[in-house]
Amino acid sequence: MAKQIVMLGPPGAGKGTQAKMLSEKLSVPHVSSGYIFRENLREQTELGKHADVYINRGELVPDDVTIAMIRERISRPDCDEGVLLDGFPRTAPQAEALDEMLSDLNKGQVDAVPCITVPDEVLIERLTGRRTCRAQGHVFHIAFNPPKEAGKCDYDGSELYQREDDTVETVTNRIRVYLKQTQPLIDYYQQRGVLLEVAGDQSIDAVFDEIMSALSGV
Ligand code: AMP
Repeated sequence: MAKQIVMLGPPGAGKGTQAKMLSEKLSVPHVSSGYIFRENLREQTELGKHADVYINRGELVPDDVTIAMIRERISRPDCDEGVLLDGFPRTAPQAEALDEMLSDLNKGQVDAVPCITVPDEVLIERLTGRRTCRAQGHVFHIAFNPPKEAGKCDYDGSELYQREDDTVETVTNRIRVYLKQTQPLIDYYQQRGVLLEVAGDQSIDAVFDEIMSALSGV
């Protein structure tokens, strides 16, 4: 089964949720660029301070910074057997850089790209109701996937919070940025024959089953 996997889809499509489940099932690390940025922000590293303004506006962090961060992450030994990328690449230069780094690191190439699609109005509803776990980034939704106890993560008991970029204004911008900068990657991967289209407007388990069966054919 495919091991170098890129999750594609607009913000709110459920990439993170699915990536977490897939990473456990396939035993490959889940590498989320957004999560790494937020960790750096929390720890106030140089990278975090640099990314802060872009993230809070719903814009993309510049390619050079993002590419260097991912290169460093996927060079680590835990990615030797594969990786599940969530939120990267998001631009054409990032996709090209990913091809280059996988080949430099002798990791072959991207072999599967599940692309989760969801109507825009559903995305806004999902993102603005989303609550994220402070400790490990588990995600819930106040209406569609509530935690057992309000404000508390089911998995590790840590506090659930609303990401600053999950407000209506920023969410709208993030969707606009996706359409302009990331959507072209669908063609990029389709031309390579690695794109797997998945309908995201169904239950979490149904989306997961659809991705797993698409991956089993790769
Ligand atoms: P996410 O958690 O994937 O929705 O990412 C949150 C924010 O982090 C995005 O809105 C961007 O500001 C930044 N970010 C995450 N991944 C990337 C990327 N591949 N390129 C540029 N910026 C990114």
